[in-house]
Amino acid sequence: MDCGVPFCQSDTGCPIDNLIPEWNELVYRGLWREALYRLHQTNNFPEFTGRVCPAPCEGACVLGITDPPVTIKNIENAIIDRGFAEGWVKAEPPPQRTGKKVAIVGSGPAGLSAAAQLNRVGHRVSVYERDDRIGGLLMYGIPPMKLEKDMVDRRVNLLREEGIEFVTNAHVGVNMEIQELVAKNDALLLACGATNPRDLPIPGRQLQGIHFAMEFLLKSTKSFLDSGFRDAHYISAQDKDVIVIGGGDTGTDCIGTSMRHECKSLVNFELLERPPDERAPDNPWPQWPLIYRVEYGHSEVAARFGKDPREFSILSQEFLDNGSGDVAGIRTVRVEWKKDSNGHLKMQEIPGSQQDWKANLVLLAMGFLGPEETLVPQLGLETDQRSNFKAEFGQYSTSIEGVFAAGDCRRGQSLIVWAMREGRDAAREIDRYLMGRTMLP
Ligand SMILES: Cc1cc2nc3c(=O)[nH]c(=O)nc-3n(C[C@H](O)[C@H](O)[C@H](O)COP(=O)(O)OP(=O)(O)OC[C@H]3O[C@@H](n4cnc5c(N)ncnc54)[C@H](O)[C@@H]3O)c2cc1C
Ligand code: SF4
Repeated sequence: MDCGVPFCQSDTGCPIDNLIPEWNELVYRGLWREALYRLHQTNNFPEFTGRVCPAPCEGACVLGITDPPVTIKNIENAIIDRGFAEGWVKAEPPPQRTGKKVAIVGSGPAGLSAAAQLNRVGHRVSVYERDDRIGGLLMYGIPPMKLEKDMVDRRVNLLREEGIEFVTNAHVGVNMEIQELVAKNDALLLACGATNPRDLPIPGRQLQGIHFAMEFLLKSTKSFLDSGFRDAHYISAQDKDVIVIGGGDTGTDCIGTSMRHECKSLVNFELLERPPDERAPDNPWPQWPLIYRVEYGHSEVAARFGKDPREFSILSQEFLDNGSGDVAGIRTVRVEWKKDSNGHLKMQEIPGSQQDWKANLVLLAMGFLGPEETLVPQLGLETDQRSNFKAEFGQYSTSIEGVFAAGDCRRGQSLIVWAMREGRDAAREIDRYLMGRTMLP
């Protein structure tokens, strides 16, 4: 590696500060085991990031100024896959225990990475998860074709072998008292994710056949894992005209899942305009490139139905009724985005652009509005303006002594790699709180 300053490790690069040029060089020299060791220094679960991270590191890669960037994510994935194949990845229980107990609510990437780090320094860690399987959105958000679920189980089993306790079907604040957890533990970490979905309250919202993306994705994965879909406990897109409202990872995963259910047609609405093919002048390297991307779901639809499913600059006005209370379609209008005198983007409807679209399954993938509200009143927690748990980045302590927050429930819906960064950082702060000092990075 001869890139001078490795911007892949800068503020716009890898959020967990992966030692990218070091392990690239080790791989180049055939020193795979050493590369794995360096990779695990900063990343608890490279098999997850190596598969589903959008790779901000590659957006900041020096080579990317003139050429396609180094395929950092693929190399990361190759290192960890080789590590598992060679039997190099093993449980490493801590040599001694501190006698301190930490409870973690939520088993997504933030909760799991915090658990791994806290256990490593000898604290007794218990992770409470309301779902029947461990992993948060790694298990029940990101669909199996993007992240195989036996990968999640494999890592969870290693963590279990290292001494971490996992309690499933434990909905803290609902079937398990939060105050009891506070009383029985020396510290508590909230890593509950931001699972409160944004709704679309337009006329016809009450019609049958309109679902939040997460209900669709969770049930589909659960039914697939429980019974290979034989139990039929899922919302089927088979032979349906599907409209997915909203883009991002969630929208794409709804598209990919509907395709696997064998939907009849698929359209994806995006309120914003189509991004440019190349970086805009106000989006220079090494920032994350805000460009038009073709994700797996889009190319699958194009291959099957002959057209990319995305319709940009489109606003849903009303859900249409089939006369029996089921959704039959969506009425839309096209919009134009213009900057006002203050430079703020403003949306304007285009007169005469109204259009009706056929749909008997509508999936709402318009983002999330912070964590669910159950724990806030029960703990007396402060929240920020976006209704996330209030805790400063870098500190992670909430308004309640001994209670910390990390991941999407603190920063809002983000990325696996950011959740892992926050989980690792919060573990360091919890260790400092418990022991008065810390050796955790
Ligand atoms: C469909 C979808 C696809 C995505 N795809 C990608 C992707 O490809 N790449 C990427 O980097 N990011 C992706 N993301 C974002 C990423 O998954 C999240 O940013 C990340 O999982 C957040 O981690 P977390 O640990 O903070 O929370 P989560 O993963 O949301 O985990 C929180 C866990 O807490 C549990 N919980 C909540 N409240 C309670 C309670 N009271 N008691 C017990 N348990 C509780 C929840 O059941 C959940 O399991 C995707 C998100 C979605 C929704
Ligand atoms: S975790 Fe993501 S940002 Fe970091 S090196 Fe891997 S792919 Fe790049």
